[in-house]
Amino acid sequence: MTFQFQAAVLRQSGMPRPYQESKPLQLEEITAQPPGESEVLVKVMAASLCRSDLSVVNGVRAWPMPIVPGHEASGVVEEVGSSVKSVKAGDHVVLVYQPQCGVCPDCVSGDAHLCGPGLMANRSGGLLAGGTRLYQGEVNIHHHMGLSAFAEYAVVSEHSVVPMPKDIPLDVGALFGCAVMCGAGTVLNTGAVRPGDTVAIVGVGGVGSSAILGAKLAGASEIFVADKDPRKLDFAKTIGATHVALEDDTPAVEKILELSGGGTDYAFETAGTIGAFETAYSSVKRGGTVVSLGLVDPKTPFSLDVAGLVTSAKTIKGSYVGSCNPLVHIPRYMSLYQQGKFSVDQLISHHLPLAEINKALDQMADNDAVRQIIQPWA
Ligand SMILES: [Zn+2]
Ligand SMILES: [Zn+2]
Repeated sequence: MTFQFQAAVLRQSGMPRPYQESKPLQLEEITAQPPGESEVLVKVMAASLCRSDLSVVNGVRAWPMPIVPGHEASGVVEEVGSSVKSVKAGDHVVLVYQPQCGVCPDCVSGDAHLCGPGLMANRSGGLLAGGTRLYQGEVNIHHHMGLSAFAEYAVVSEHSVVPMPKDIPLDVGALFGCAVMCGAGTVLNTGAVRPGDTVAIVGVGGVGSSAILGAKLAGASEIFVADKDPRKLDFAKTIGATHVALEDDTPAVEKILELSGGGTDYAFETAGTIGAFETAYSSVKRGGTVVSLGLVDPKTPFSLDVAGLVTSAKTIKGSYVGSCNPLVHIPRYMSLYQQGKFSVDQLISHHLPLAEINKALDQMADNDAVRQIIQPWA
């Protein structure tokens, strides 16, 4: 039996700002097929806004339209397909945006974040088992990252959910699906920062803030944080930054080099701009490692002084999903949250109903928020 619910549908990217006037996301009634045999129907309880959602709306990253965005969320399982064993109705789950098929060479060798079938399904705007489950009349509506969480319900692959303990609030749980894995996961896994290392983090959005928490968890001795917005730096200090550097007339990199005595062991670019990457690259000392995770506009050109890379013996890495295996790392990070060692809840700045999603987009674009939680049932 098909069923209907409200979802925030995007039909065209690149609409003008403010989004509260152009309303790129329209709340509409859509139809869903019931979950297939390896799929799960989830009642979405919390879906947070991430910069990647903004890149879908502003067109920086191209997606098949129409689409329901939203890829960082949590909810309650309503119904499961006949072959699903990992979750049952009533379970609380985190939705994860990189499905892990479990049988491809990358999944089998422990690199679930590189799952090829998962990536291909995401790019097609469909689910892991193929095709979409959402439509309106005759028109197929695409899934964003196998999820489409800006809606009352989501039909997803069982490989797109991870069970979570019921004593963790669902709004906090949502953050583990993207911000936590991408930010803290990158510091802990991709960078593998060790106790005593020094770290620079460029950009204080949800992912950058999570990276600060991750650096604290890793035991970094000094955490230098750069941003263009002084409000973000004030916030960074409250969650663990030991030094902050405002990007103004004096470049932040000069301040970081001076404060760190010649550069840090690691730098993480989380802002998604070439300028942020250059700051990160120049902030590490000789032999240091710079990790990019902010998703720079793919059309932006970049040139690198390769000879300088050689003589400085720096390492450049990209990080996808913080090199996490969600089934392994989400329970680990949630346990650290329960023990009070990983205060992810500090990242939540707003709660809004689904009807205010365009306002939330404006607040994100204006840097007036860290993580905003959309609650479709509030
Ligand atoms: Zn995200
Ligand atoms: Zn796989």
